[in-house]
Amino acid sequence: MNTLNEIESVLREVLPDQRNPLVEPCLQGNELSYLKECVDTNFVSSVGKFVDRFSSQLSEYTGLSKAVPVVNGTSALSMCYKLVGVKPGDEVMMPAMTFVATANAAKYLNATPHFVDSSLDDLGVDVTKLKIYFESNLDVRNGAAFNKKTNRKISAFVVMHTFGHISPQILKLTKLLDEYSIPLVEDAAEALGSFMDGHHAGHWGRISALSFNGNKIVTTGGGGAIITNNFELGDFAKHLTTTAKQQHPWRYYHDEVGYNYRMPNINAALGCAQLEQLPFFLKVKKKIQKRYETAFSAIDGVRMIVAPEKSDSNYWLPALLLPENKGVDLSGCMDQLNEAGFCVRPVWDLMHTLPMYRDCPRMNLNNAIELASRIVCLPSSVSLGEWI
Ligand SMILES: *Cc1c(COP(=O)(O)O)cnc(C)c1O
Repeated sequence: MNTLNEIESVLREVLPDQRNPLVEPCLQGNELSYLKECVDTNFVSSVGKFVDRFSSQLSEYTGLSKAVPVVNGTSALSMCYKLVGVKPGDEVMMPAMTFVATANAAKYLNATPHFVDSSLDDLGVDVTKLKIYFESNLDVRNGAAFNKKTNRKISAFVVMHTFGHISPQILKLTKLLDEYSIPLVEDAAEALGSFMDGHHAGHWGRISALSFNGNKIVTTGGGGAIITNNFELGDFAKHLTTTAKQQHPWRYYHDEVGYNYRMPNINAALGCAQLEQLPFFLKVKKKIQKRYETAFSAIDGVRMIVAPEKSDSNYWLPALLLPENKGVDLSGCMDQLNEAGFCVRPVWDLMHTLPMYRDCPRMNLNNAIELASRIVCLPSSVSLGEWI
């Protein structure tokens, strides 16, 4: 049997039926009773106790001093960039292998994404390669980093915890960025419940973003949060995302152009109920990952992507790595498996291949290109846990 047929037969063995969505929400806790409470009390919109409760539950769980719930992960990211000082005309460095929101959030501020390569080992940033790139392409002037070629300021660097895995290289990365005075932002949209060295995602960045979209490990319908250990910055995040209105019993005074990005109470109600179940979700995700690992170990040349050393991953999205050197053609693989009824997906099209980001500055992206030709994301809804 060829490798692709072997993969198909493993999926037939592992998955209960052939219509498993990639990741669907699991709403089996207090969701309905909290939602009913919102409706019964009339608190369905921008004020209400669930927003505050969700915010403190989040900061307690992540161990970060401040969590500001907002309308989605993309707006959280954009605010993070703004809060670390990204201005129109600046560049924001980020992996080319990410979801489009990471780049869009920079573009919304009229900044330009600048793409960096990923690590073949852990899907994080390839810091060794990055250091060499910095040495020949960046200049530090008056305590700020500039792109020598474009002469634009590099005002933020974004890491993204792919599929929930936190790369241990983040420690080397923070050192390198310190040398260049570039603030780190974590796109932790996929990493709620992921830890490394005992620290939750968001620990290393000056400020970070979470997402609670329907496909993430915890959902609020739509939603996100800004998390940070910097209390003043967190307070300012709250201010900026609530129309920059100064606290006052009756006056409408706004001290700058703020944003109406705060999360409504009904979404936060869902979030509170979901967070209560997070430990259970994490257990099931790990079980699904292990089941795939065992099943795919029977096939030569393919392997499951596993959490990097020291990293305790949420295993939000299990992924298989196809053989090297195009041993299995990715689009043929997607066609065959999807036609057979399995909801498998490739990683995102790399950012520098999208029309709006084609001309952005970038380093050599060979690792990301290779990964994008080999990654197969597998169904991993919590509901699968009963079967697997
Ligand atoms: C989901 C996701 C986002 C965006 O979150 P939304 O809540 O959908 O706006 C950003 N970055 C990454 C890596 C994501 O996976």
